[in-house]
Formats: sequence, structure tokens, C-alpha cells
Amino acid sequence: MTKIKKILIANRGEIACRVMKTCQRLGIATVAVYSEADAGALHVEMADEAVLIGPAPARESYLDIKKILAAAKETGADAIHPGYGFLSENAEFAEAVSKAGLIFIGPPPGAIRAMGGKSESKALMEKAKVPLVPGYHGDKQDEKFLKSEAEKIGYPVLIKASAGGGGKGMREVWDAKEFSEALAGAQREAKSSFGNEKVLIEKYLVKPRHVEIQVFADQKGNAVYLFERDCSVQRRHQKVLEEAPAPGLSAATREKMGNAAVAAAQAIGYVGAGTVEFLLEAKENFYFMEMNTRLQVEHPVTEMITGLDLVEWQIRVAEGEKLPLAQEDLQINGHAFEARLYAEDPSKDFLPGAGQIQFLRYPMESDCVRVDTGVREAPFGDGDVISIYYDPMIAKIIAWGKDRDAALRHMQDALDNTYIAGPKTNINFLRALTKNRDFAAGMVSTHFIAEHHDALLPKPSAPADETLALAALGVLAERGERMSDDPWGDLSSWRIGGGETDAFIFKSGEKEYPVKVSCPDLKIALPDGKTVQAGYAGSPFDLGFAAQLGGKRYEAAVYRDGPHMHVMYEGHNEELTYLDPLHAGEGDEESAGRLTAPMPGKVVAVRVEMGAKVTKGQPLIIVEAMKMEHTITAPADGVIEAIHAAVGDQVSEKHELIALK
Ligand code: ADP
Repeated sequence: MTKIKKILIANRGEIACRVMKTCQRLGIATVAVYSEADAGALHVEMADEAVLIGPAPARESYLDIKKILAAAKETGADAIHPGYGFLSENAEFAEAVSKAGLIFIGPPPGAIRAMGGKSESKALMEKAKVPLVPGYHGDKQDEKFLKSEAEKIGYPVLIKASAGGGGKGMREVWDAKEFSEALAGAQREAKSSFGNEKVLIEKYLVKPRHVEIQVFADQKGNAVYLFERDCSVQRRHQKVLEEAPAPGLSAATREKMGNAAVAAAQAIGYVGAGTVEFLLEAKENFYFMEMNTRLQVEHPVTEMITGLDLVEWQIRVAEGEKLPLAQEDLQINGHAFEARLYAEDPSKDFLPGAGQIQFLRYPMESDCVRVDTGVREAPFGDGDVISIYYDPMIAKIIAWGKDRDAALRHMQDALDNTYIAGPKTNINFLRALTKNRDFAAGMVSTHFIAEHHDALLPKPSAPADETLALAALGVLAERGERMSDDPWGDLSSWRIGGGETDAFIFKSGEKEYPVKVSCPDLKIALPDGKTVQAGYAGSPFDLGFAAQLGGKRYEAAVYRDGPHMHVMYEGHNEELTYLDPLHAGEGDEESAGRLTAPMPGKVVAVRVEMGAKVTKGQPLIIVEAMKMEHTITAPADGVIEAIHAAVGDQVSEKHELIALK
């Protein structure tokens, strides 16, 4: 029996749903809070009660302490779980929760404060003799001084927002010439994301690994470590694929890091779940980076290898119970991976995306596969929206196996059975990543993605024959469906009878691929000259679309959104443009000299003037969107012909920013 009877989860999406699952198992009632943008969200539906706390922008809802406390009071909740992000590492919030007479399921405010700033926590750890990356983490912040510190440390250096997180407010500097611009960028991003310009400077380590230790402490002074997670595989200094344990880590180093992490937690009187992040260099030297005083996104891999429920531990500790297990009772069982499915465009430097999910199928869950998500599978185009207001993560696909190879096979399989259409996602990137030979060999470092860029992000090649054939069958089947709904609709593109040939043109990259289908016998002529006998049954919108191509059966889904076609089958998630003769010209509006906003955002810097001569790659304009800066650079040498945006302007996606001649 738990003492806590009702928990309000001060969060949304995947983590809110995750916490509720444990509450349901423990018989604890749940309260969701939600913004106007999330009225139809899964976490709202899952909760026993739900309270609307304001409009979409997080500042007016999920970050509003008063509204969250009012919701707890109104519903009679006796504890608040902050999840991660939002208010999870906000000491003021933890304090306000206690003051309101409620239990905060997290560490004491003092511990949050101690580790709140990267600079302050480094100073503390220095005292506790935990090894640090060489650098400057003091209070002096003028440019000249910081630059001289950078020179002392020696390039390359990394400038980091002291209040930072999620890789924001971070800039690598490889040369003194770049320092000032990088500092200004880091400060700007730090200010807009965290409301605090303070930065620190570190030696930029070449090819380290990111290895972090999960710690847990109770209110009685006990503390343990639940081993490590390797989160080296990153883009934009942000994790995208994690695993536990860290491949190849020696037992001796594991123990040393574990003990250092426990010492760090004890130095600040820590209680609850926390993570101590280290950079690990060759020869297994490790350096403290920061401590996250909350549950981490990647906590499921630790749960999979320990068989524990970390949210349950959090609740027990918050109730004042002793840690359920001592260090000597803890064991690693097998290996686990977590892949984060994001709305982002890997081909555009992983630019975060947004938009409506139109099709979504997750892999089947089992003892070896787990899916954590707050985004719904919605087969008929009324799916959840990945909003520009929040993190663009769609789901976490987690796989376990008795060893690393087995876990990796389960992960590959799970990703091959994940299908999505709507905003651009990293699904194909994740598939390539988990099938990469060096990754399979455990050769991970924080440079893994950059070093394997071409293999992981191949240049668009000609679509496979199957993709083109399925696309054509999809259009035909879709017409058939429309016909059966409305026998008089759209006769212009449908011929009753037979003996005729239908021609389709699909576009991928810059190239067009004509496909001919003879009706009614469904012989498909492909652009490479091959022909294949086809058949199909079922609706193309679902994975129940069964297609036959030359004797082979495919379970496919073909989803069309205007000219955008998504063809999904057997580990393929392909996008084509359908040049529908009825809607000629759609999707061709891009022209070379018009530089447009990649997503809705705010213009934070304009680096050029009218008439300026620019060279290819030169930064022209900086747009901030989803709390990150995106630099629009010149695609070619040229002259600035027009500037259509000024600093402070809110721009919509595709808004023309600059004309270049
Ligand atoms: P955030 O809190 O924004 O996530 P971190 O300090 O945790 O920032 O760093 C994020 C990532 O940046 C690390 O996982 C690592 O890959 C890289 N990184 C951080 N510090 C260094 C460094 N000194 N040298 C090399 N890479 C670093």
C-alpha cells in the first residue's frame, strides 16, 4: 500500500503517460494537466482526472507554477511528479510544492540548486575531488576575459550555457577567429532558452564517449548506482540512441564511475533519481560533466537491464521508504537500447519539425520490445499534432536482449515495424544507424554520426521497384475506394472497363519515374524496363494493404497527402512526390534564389545588407525556432537583392527571408 493516493503529473506527452502507467499498477490515482494544444492528447485521456491550465505556450501552462499548484489543490492530489524538462529541475517549484503541503517526487530544492548551473556544480565537484574537464567555470563573463581563458585552455574549446540543457546554448570553437561570434550565439541562445546568459568554457575533447551513471538515494542516507548508460550517439550534442550497459566498459571503471557518481550525489544531500554525466576518453579516463536532478528520457534502458521500475522507486523514496535494494543486490541482466523517434529532418542537419501525424504504427510490445509514447496511432489522418511549442519527440522504441547482439536484433526488427507518415522523421536514419557495422561492433563515440554521415544519410537514390509499384497500386486502390464511396465522383481519372493503361509519374529528388499499369490485369511496367504482375486487396491506408508483386506478397501501407506519397512496407518508409495530372505544378514552388524560413520562428539576426556580395556558405540570417538557432547560409555566391525580414520578426514556414541573385 502506498501512502501517496493521488499524483498530479506536471508534464505532458510520453513522460506523463510513462508515470501514469506505474501509478495505475500501484493503484495510485492520476491527475493530468494540459494546455489548449493538448486537449485531445493521450496523457489527458489516460489520467483519472485532467485540468486545463492554459494556452499552448509552455510559459503560460506547463511552466506556470501557480496554475499547476491550483490544479493540485482543486483535485486533491497529494504529490506532484514533474517528469523531465519543464519544471523538473526548478528548485523554486520544488519548494512551492512542499510549501503547499504536497510531496514533490524529486530531490530537495537544495540539491537541485547545487546542480542547477553547470558552472556551480563543477565548482562543487572540484571540491569533492571528482575529475573535471579542464576549463573555466567562474563568474567573470566579459568577452575579452573569456577569450583569454579559451586561449589558456587551448583550442578547440566548447562554450556552454551554464543553465543549459538539451544541447542548447553550446558552441564548438576551433579557432580564435570564431570565438566572438560563437560566444554571442551561445549567449543569445542561453538567454532565450534559459533566461540566463552565463557561460562556461571547456576543453573540447576529441571523440569522447558520453557515459552517465544512474544514481538513487533515499531520505535515510542510503545511495546506490544502477549502472551506466552509453549515450554517445548524438546529433547537435543531443542524444538520439542510448544503451545500457556501455559496450566494452571494464568492470573496474564501471565501479569507479559508480562510486564517483554516488559520492557526487552524497556531496549535495541528494534524494531520489539522478544522473551523473561523464565524458569518457580512451584508456577509460572519465570527467564529470553535469548532474541531472530528475528522471532522464533514457531511463528505460536501465529499467530493462535491472528489471526495476524507476518511477516506483521515486514514489517509494518520496514516501520516506528505504531504497528497495542495496548495491550488492543490484545486477545487470542482458543489454538494452533505446531509439528516439523524432519529427526532424536528418537531411537538413536534423532540423526539428512539426505537423500532423497522418499515419503511425508502432511495433508490437513484448518482453523484448517496449514503446513509450504520448503520440497516438491514428489511422485516418486525424492523428496527434507534433506542435512547434514542445519537444518534437514522437516515441521511444526500447529493445532488450540477453546480450548486445540479441538486443540489437530486436531493435532492428522493432524499427523495421515502425511506420510513420506526416512530418519528416528520423525513422530511416534510426534504421540505418542500428544496422551500421561499426555501431554493431560497439565502436561508439560522440562523433559517430558525423564520422558515418554518408553511410547513415545516403544521398537520395532511385526508389526501389517495389516502392514505385506499390505507390502506383496505392493510387489505383485509393481511386477504387473513392469510386465505391461515390460512384459518380472523379470519373475523369477512372476508366470503367479495361484494356487501358494508366500512367503515373512519381518524383524522388530531382528525378521523375514513370510507371505504367495495364488495367484490369495489373501488369506494371517499371522505369528500369522490368514488368511485374501485381494484385492487391484491402485499403491502401492501412498496413492491411496486401499487395502481390511478381508472386511475392507485401504487407504495405500507402498514404497520400496531396502530392506527398508515403510508401511503407517491410522496413521501408519512403517518400515520393506524385505528379497528379489533375494537380499539376504542386510542390514546385521552391526556386534557387529565394531563401525561406525552414520552420515557423523568430528572426534573431540579419547578417547582411542590401546589395552585399556574399560567398557560398556565408551566414545570412538567423532564425530561432523551437528554442534553437538555425542559420540560413548562402547556397551559392551572389548579391543580396532583397531582405524581407528584420530582427524580431515572427516568420511562418516558407516565409521568404532573402532574395539572392
Ligand atoms: P546539455 O546539458 O545541453 O545536454 P551537456 O553538458 O550534457 O549539455 O553536453 C551535451 C553533449 O555535448 C555531451 O553528451 C557531449 O557529447 C558533448 N560535450 C559536452 N562537453 C564536451 C566537451 N568538453 N568535449 C567534447 N564534447 C562535449
